[in-house]
Amino acid sequence: MAFQTLDDVSLAGVRALVRVDFNVPMADGVVTDDTRLRAAAPTIEKLRAGGAKVILLAHFDRPKGKWVQEMSLAPIAPALSAVLRCPVAFVADCAGKDVEAAVAAMGPGDVILLENVRFYPGEEANDPAFARALAANGDLYVNDAFSAAHRAHASTEGLAHILPACAGEQMRLELNALDRALGRPERPVMGIVGGSKVSTKLDLLSNLVTQLDKLAIGGGMANTFLFAQGHEVGASYCEKDLADTAREIIRLAGLHNCKLFLPIDIVVADKLAPGAPARVRELGAMDDEERILDAGPKTVERLRRAMANSKTLVWNGPLGVFEIPPFDRGTVEAARAAADLVKAGKLVAVAGGGDTVAALHHAGCAEDFTFVSTAGGAFLEWMEGKILPGVAALSKQSQR
Ligand code: ADP
Ligand code: MG
Repeated sequence: MAFQTLDDVSLAGVRALVRVDFNVPMADGVVTDDTRLRAAAPTIEKLRAGGAKVILLAHFDRPKGKWVQEMSLAPIAPALSAVLRCPVAFVADCAGKDVEAAVAAMGPGDVILLENVRFYPGEEANDPAFARALAANGDLYVNDAFSAAHRAHASTEGLAHILPACAGEQMRLELNALDRALGRPERPVMGIVGGSKVSTKLDLLSNLVTQLDKLAIGGGMANTFLFAQGHEVGASYCEKDLADTAREIIRLAGLHNCKLFLPIDIVVADKLAPGAPARVRELGAMDDEERILDAGPKTVERLRRAMANSKTLVWNGPLGVFEIPPFDRGTVEAARAAADLVKAGKLVAVAGGGDTVAALHHAGCAEDFTFVSTAGGAFLEWMEGKILPGVAALSKQSQR
């Protein structure tokens, strides 16, 4: 997909309305994790260096179109100022007279943060009148919030139809990484999908089997596939009512020449507790009270070989209950194997998903992956093959 970036537009003296994701963890009005603020820094710095006036637009939490003081973005301004090492003024509105006055007083390179855009019902309704009110204070729209791109809201989609639009640096990074993983991947391309439920990842699995050369299924959802193939699953988490669906996905994979990797051995325990005695079992040799909590060593070794014979890997969902050792082992070993291949220049590995990101950090290899997306819902919708409205609106064809 072709889209403009900050390199394609002139910046000097331009009022840049920049949509960022500042939905950061906060406690008692203080930012407790500034990862997302740091992620926005390259875009802001590039705009400042080019002499633009930087006007930041963001949402926080779910005020549902009402003014909720506890969801004000005011506490973000000092935290962002510390990250950027420059003043960040806060304006207690995001459209109208106060914003107009604040923007008029800005010099090139100045940064202001506007109030929570979701305080207005027009934001989530993607009301064109609200988008025009936002646009009145800008000459250029920069979208740097991939994580909000699955929503067609005024500040994530509507603005792109009113102002000249381009992708920010974080958006560009994310889109390029996703393109390398699923858009135009170097083949063979392999997927690993784990996590707890088949039911939340049906669209994802159905799409991936049509795109990938190989797909490994792990985690709790693999139990449903094992059950569908007639294996015992004991007291494991298993969506037995989805056995037909699992068989349909297996059929689809065959149709599209996607080789499926289901577990060939498993780690079981009688209870899910830290340090619980864990046993490795062959398939089909389970007691009624045993639960499958991780992938077995043979399964992990098979995945390692499959990764070594692939050029690209896309990963969502842990292979086991990684939060509770020793059931983190399969996930940790597979993640390290992928990281080693990336470090050796043999694999492009892209991962995403809330728990997946946590698992990669736990394994100590998040930094070694080619790209780790923190976008959550937007990343999953992209893996499902859906068109993200915020991204589509940036494409050159959809511009005025
Ligand atoms: P993500 O957030 O990366 O998309 P999910 O939310 O789909 O991932 O899945 C993560 C959860 O899946 C974790 O909490 C993990 O404990 C759980 N899980 C993994 N394997 C199993 C299993 N065998 N049985 C039960 N839960 C599992
Ligand atoms: Mg999750």
